[in-house]
Amino acid sequence: MALTGLEIFKLLPKTNCKKCGKPTCLAFAMQLAQKKAKLDDCPCASDEAKESLSAAAAPPMRQITFGTGETQVQAGQETVLFRHDEKFYSPTIIAVTVSDKLAGDELQKRIDTVSGLQFERVGCKIGVRAIAVVNDSGDADAFAAAAAKADESSDLALILCSDSADAMAAAVAKTAASKPLIASATADNAEAMAKIANDSKCPVVAKASSLKDLVDLTEKLAGLGVEDIVLSFEGMSLEQELRSLTEARVLSLKKVFRPLGYPTLSVVSEGDAAEQSASGIALACKYSGIVILDTVEPFALLPMLTAVMNVYSDPQKPIQVEPKMYEIGEPDENSPVIFTTNFSLTYYTVESDVEASRVPCYIIVVDTEGTSVLTAYSGDKLNEKAVADAITKLGVEDKVKHRKLIIPGYVAVMSGKLEEATGWEIMVGPRESSMLAKYLQEVWK
Ligand code: SF4
Repeated sequence: MALTGLEIFKLLPKTNCKKCGKPTCLAFAMQLAQKKAKLDDCPCASDEAKESLSAAAAPPMRQITFGTGETQVQAGQETVLFRHDEKFYSPTIIAVTVSDKLAGDELQKRIDTVSGLQFERVGCKIGVRAIAVVNDSGDADAFAAAAAKADESSDLALILCSDSADAMAAAVAKTAASKPLIASATADNAEAMAKIANDSKCPVVAKASSLKDLVDLTEKLAGLGVEDIVLSFEGMSLEQELRSLTEARVLSLKKVFRPLGYPTLSVVSEGDAAEQSASGIALACKYSGIVILDTVEPFALLPMLTAVMNVYSDPQKPIQVEPKMYEIGEPDENSPVIFTTNFSLTYYTVESDVEASRVPCYIIVVDTEGTSVLTAYSGDKLNEKAVADAITKLGVEDKVKHRKLIIPGYVAVMSGKLEEATGWEIMVGPRESSMLAKYLQEVWK
C-alpha cells in the first residue's frame, strides 16, 4: 500500500531547507503522497529513505509498452479519473483480430486489411495500432505460424491471444524480437505464462472473472517476477465490465492500490460491427487502455477512433493547424482570400466547404492559439492587428493583385478596423462555413 504523507515525512531529513521548492519537508511529503511531487526533487534524501520511498514515488498506474521502434505503443500511466482534471496520457489502443484458423492468401488478406485501417481526421493520422492474433485453432504450430506472418507483414504492434502456455511459447519464440503483448495469464497457467514473459521480457495480460480474482492473479504474477502487467476481465457483460474497469481505476489512482495499478484490456467479440463500435467506445471512455475488436468495417472503426482522439486530446491544448497560407485548388492572382483561425476543426470545416465550392482560394490561417473564430475574437486573440500581421508575414500581397479579404460573418464587427489596419477592402462572408460555397459562387466574382 502507498505511504501516507506522515509516513513519508518520517523518512525525510526534516531540515526544511526548501531545496525541493516546498516550504517544509512536511509540505513536500504531502505533495509526494498525492503524486504531485517527485522524490528526485529532494536532493537531501538518503539512499535508505529513497529505497523506502520508491513505492510511494512510483506512478499509481504503471506504463506498459509493447511493439518496437515506430510500431511501439504504450498504455497506462494515467493519473486522473476525469480528463478535465488534467489530461489522459495514453490513448486507447485499438486492435483488431486475426484468427489462426486462416492460412495462406486468406491470412495475408486479413492481415493487410487490418493493417490498412488507417484514417486522417482534422489533419491527424488515426488508426488501428495493434493486430491481435487469436489461437482459435487450439493448435500451437498454427498459432505460431499466424503470429510470425502477422509480425513479418504488418507494421502494427502485436498481441498474442491464447490461454495455452504451449501455444504461447511457440508464438513468442518466433516473435519475441517485436515485443508482443502476451494475452493471457490466468489462474490456471500463471506460472508458465510468467516464465514466458520473464524469459522474453514481454508484458503479459492477467485475465480473471472478478476484481478479487484479478488482484490475486496480479499479486501472484508480481511474486513470480513479472513487472509489466495488463488487466483484463473475462465472462462479464458490458455493464459489469464497465463497473469493474471503473472500480479498478478508482482503486489504482485514488487508493494507489498497487495490485490494480496497471492499464487494462478489453475484448469485444459479440455483436455486429455497429454494436462492437458502440461497446468499444464505451470501454475506451471508461477505462480500457486496449480494446480488441473483430470487425474490420471502417464505418465502425472510424467513430471509435474519433472518440478516442477526442477523449484523449489535451483539454488545455486544442488541436491546431499550422498558421500559414493554404492554397485550395490552384488559386491565381485573381482568387479570393479568406481568413480563419488555426483551430483545427474550424480550419478543416472551412477547407472542405471551400473545396466543395470548386472556386480556387487562398485561406490565411491566423494563429489564435487553437481557438475558434468567436472564442478568439472574444479573447482578443483575433483582432485587426493579428490579421494585418498575418497578411504581411505570409506575403499575401505578392500572391494576388486585388486587395479584397473575405472575413467570417461572425466577426463582421471587425470590418472597419480591419480595413484601416490592412488597407484592404473587407467583404463580410457568411456566418456559417457551410454557406461559403454559395457565397464564393454568387457573391465573389
Ligand atoms: Fe525537506 Fe528535502 Fe525539501 Fe529540503 S529538499 S525541505 S530536506 S524535502
